[in-house]
Amino acid sequence: MTDQYAVIGNPIGHTKSPVIHRLFAESCGQQIEYTAIEGSTTDFAGDVARFKAQGGRGMNITAPFKLQAFELATQPSQRARLARAANAFKFEDEAVLADNFDGVGLLRDIEHNLGQPLDGRRVLLLGAGGAVRGALLPFLAASPARLVLVNRDMVKARVLENEVNDPRLLLSTYEDLAGQWFDLVINATSASLTGELPPVPESVFTNATLAYELAYGRGLTPFLQVAKKAGVDTLADGVGMLVEQAAEAFEWWRGVRPQTGAVIQRLTVPLT
Ligand code: NDP
Repeated sequence: MTDQYAVIGNPIGHTKSPVIHRLFAESCGQQIEYTAIEGSTTDFAGDVARFKAQGGRGMNITAPFKLQAFELATQPSQRARLARAANAFKFEDEAVLADNFDGVGLLRDIEHNLGQPLDGRRVLLLGAGGAVRGALLPFLAASPARLVLVNRDMVKARVLENEVNDPRLLLSTYEDLAGQWFDLVINATSASLTGELPPVPESVFTNATLAYELAYGRGLTPFLQVAKKAGVDTLADGVGMLVEQAAEAFEWWRGVRPQTGAVIQRLTVPLT
């Protein structure tokens, strides 16, 4: 039987994962079947168990199940433990191995695809939700000169700060960002999903060489519009992160690293 993989989420109609993994499999000469499952909001564990019982080898997990996926894992990675969220499973006999590739995918897109290393640079990260939880360890490992995290809900930000327990991670309120400047400004809030702009002062973009929006396929979001107006050279959305996290999972499952450039190009919606 062809090896079975799936992405599970709810809703799942919008998912690009099956096309990404089909393109990876074709380019790597791998025989796999990859489907999309609309998970039950009341029986996520049952859906995973059924897929595994049918011979499933691995899964990607998307909203709203990443936290439940972590709870279900028997062997979570360190990244998944910090995030308390998993976006990929690998099934080995009875074991459910779990990892979180969102952060490494984001980092690879920024450093490798967009040519913007974090090493020695001033990085501003907006948000303190699941995506930021996944990004913090990989970001700190990339040695930024300064990593500042800002969130509306500062209690949530402080919880993260305590969990990470690394003096290089600094917290700020949105108000206190006035007059500060950064090399890279990364919007990991979900504000753009509702067409909103996080209350970030325009001054943070003054010297920035990259403004990165994690949401994808939405063109110039309010955040990217402000960055463009402020003269930021490189604007990007999260399509590269999406493809890079998928490549990490594919390699974890299949032992082969797929090329990502053509897939990113194919899925990119112009930032206009
Ligand atoms: P969460 O729901 O876990 O967190 C949402 C975060 O956004 C919180 O920090 C929240 O702040 C903040 N927020 C929401 N609205 C606003 C606003 N109007 N102004 C300021 N802050 C706001 O979401 P995720 O972390 O899972 O996702 C964040 C973004 O990343 C989404 O756009 C998502 O689509 C994208 N994403 C992209 C991926 C990719 O592969 N490209 C993968 C995963 C996520 P507060 O705590 O104060 O409420």
